[in-house]
Amino acid sequence: MYENELNVALESVRVAARVCRNVQAKITSEVLEKKDRSPVTIADYSAQAIICRTLKDAFPDDPVIGEEGAAALREPDNASFLDKIHDELGAVGIDSSIEQICEWIDHGGENNYSDRFWTLDPIDGTKGFLRGEQYAISLALIISGNIEVGILCCPNLPLSESDERLGATFCAVRGQGAVMRCLDDDAVEETIAVTQTADTSEARFCESVESGHSAHGQSARGAEMLGITKPPVRLDSQAKYAVVARGEADIYLRLPTRKDYNEKIWDHAGGVIVVEEAGGRVTDIHGKPLDFTHGRELKQNKGVVVSNGLIHGRVIQVLDELSAS
Ligand code: AMP
Ligand code: MG
Repeated sequence: MYENELNVALESVRVAARVCRNVQAKITSEVLEKKDRSPVTIADYSAQAIICRTLKDAFPDDPVIGEEGAAALREPDNASFLDKIHDELGAVGIDSSIEQICEWIDHGGENNYSDRFWTLDPIDGTKGFLRGEQYAISLALIISGNIEVGILCCPNLPLSESDERLGATFCAVRGQGAVMRCLDDDAVEETIAVTQTADTSEARFCESVESGHSAHGQSARGAEMLGITKPPVRLDSQAKYAVVARGEADIYLRLPTRKDYNEKIWDHAGGVIVVEEAGGRVTDIHGKPLDFTHGRELKQNKGVVVSNGLIHGRVIQVLDELSAS
């Protein structure tokens, strides 16, 4: 099932990853010092253009709920961005006009839920991208509210903790398990699985680098209640889902920092199916399944908890106690 969807989507994600790597390689200390976000802007729009171009061509009737839209790019002040995006696409063999680029990006501008749609985060973890650290391209196909296909590409993630090769792509189709592929070598593909850790005191947990995205103080208190002694692994983007899926961490906590923030569907869909197909479990902080039927946001959920499944109930119980205290 969904073999064509997976293959078409995967190929487009790999091309987008090439552009992201090309752009990230050009980030200089000067750019960093100036806190100039233009590299991530260029890579982000380029990746959305590339992936939406392919999806539009292969599955013209499928809406795409993507993070970006081209409205800002069409403003005259941003013409230089469009030129740079045009050049980055050219560097990976995609000839385009400025108008086509905007059309491709806007193909990902759907807001509303439908029975079959894709959701795309062209660069998740923009802060990690700018720091030269972790970021991800996340793409998922959702049918009748269920994630059926997911691709999570982490161009800077080592293939394992002991492997120096960087670039891992995680693919999952509902009911068929999850695999990790080497971004640069098709021959390397392995089935992945979550840990078997049943005792929370032995668990490793991961969370955002950014304390504005997940409440570090709360997670530290929760970890203490769970008997966890190891410090959290902090990394940007949905790479956190990947490390739980392949058994390098047991828990990923994303605890709300503000009452009014709703998680965005593209920040999770690709990662969720990869973890679930690797044998893990994903819910919100109250133990409710994530509900992908409300357009761009997970309006019915608060925060996210990812685990190997075995310890999920205990983690939710502790979070309940924490919020009651
Ligand atoms: P991470 O790399 O895990 O820290 O997450 C990056 C994502 O956090 C971005 O793609 C944003 O969509 C999302 N984000 C922005 N503000 C918040 C917030 N207040 N709480 C949770 N996530 C946020
Ligand atoms: Mg994101």
